[in-house]
Amino acid sequence: MRIENEIKLGFGDVMIRPKRSTLKSRSMVDLVREFTFLHTQQKWRGIPIIAANMDTVGTFEMARALAENEMMTAMHKHYTVNEWAEFMQSGGNEMVDHIAVSTGTSKEDSAKLKKIMGAHPELRFICIDVANGYSEHFVNYVKRARENHPDKVIIAGNVVTGEMVEELLLAGADIVKVGIGPGSVCTTRVKTGVGYPQLSAIIECADAAHGLRGQIISDGGCTKPGDVAKAFGGGADFTMLGGMFAGHDESGGELVEKNGEKFKLFYGMSSSTAMNKYVGGVAEYRASEGKTVEVPYRGPVQNTVSDILGGIRSTCTYVGAGQLKELTKRTTFIRVLEQENQVYS
Ligand code: 5GP
Repeated sequence: MRIENEIKLGFGDVMIRPKRSTLKSRSMVDLVREFTFLHTQQKWRGIPIIAANMDTVGTFEMARALAENEMMTAMHKHYTVNEWAEFMQSGGNEMVDHIAVSTGTSKEDSAKLKKIMGAHPELRFICIDVANGYSEHFVNYVKRARENHPDKVIIAGNVVTGEMVEELLLAGADIVKVGIGPGSVCTTRVKTGVGYPQLSAIIECADAAHGLRGQIISDGGCTKPGDVAKAFGGGADFTMLGGMFAGHDESGGELVEKNGEKFKLFYGMSSSTAMNKYVGGVAEYRASEGKTVEVPYRGPVQNTVSDILGGIRSTCTYVGAGQLKELTKRTTFIRVLEQENQVYS
């Protein structure tokens, strides 16, 4: 047993210190970034925010709405090959820069991925997603995926430490997804005791990835626009959001009405709700590691998108970053013991 004494930080442990700035208005801030990916050497331009590959977030409808804003959606992995075909025929093929096909690492997942990518060679992004990215099996899977899809941008995760980011990038990932346990409907930290405060995970993993010219996605733990700004300030190239995009018209999931108020169901992809729906229940050897909640219905996602983008633009003006790219260089985090004033909440 060992103890690391350095304190690791989450979004709630810091604020961003304001800095002198020449920017006159938030409208002067450019949130579009351009990346060249490590293995494919392909370029991508857009606003680097991604809807999470959960079936109550990462839907075809969400992808259409976010693509209008130059943002991305990682589609949940439970769409069938036929559903993909319908989506691509009905305009999905016009937004291939803004969608990722998600897959797990089982034989069935692989077979389905092969069919989807085979039928739609224009798709650019593959997101190989497992709860625990530390297994040798996973690294080997990423290597095989790189061999089988040499021209695709491969996202792989999740991990939270620099050495594993390097291992996945060297195995063939272009982008590594970072986050164990911070998610809004995640119970991994409760069930297993395993995790890593998200801001420190971002800072350490970004450093490792950028040293190899790879990118990271900060996945999970953002509950408000300020957290998304802190993720970018910490060095995240992309930020993935689940809960912040849940509860909208485009989010999938059932709309329920209780005492005149509307809610939408939102659940973790390892919750018993998801496992009952897709794999016939929670296997005997494992525990569910996700919650099921009802979130207030929030209408079209566009209002939320504007709120998030407005918040980040404002962060950039507070620190004098004319482009999102500059935000991390201009960020000084201060450790704090308070966040917002809760007197009227
Ligand atoms: P959020 O933005 O809601 O805080 O976090 C979204 C992320 O939570 C997802 O992208 C995914 O990484 C993670 N997640 C989704 N479902 C589950 C689950 O059932 N269990 C765990 N441990 N994490 C989940």
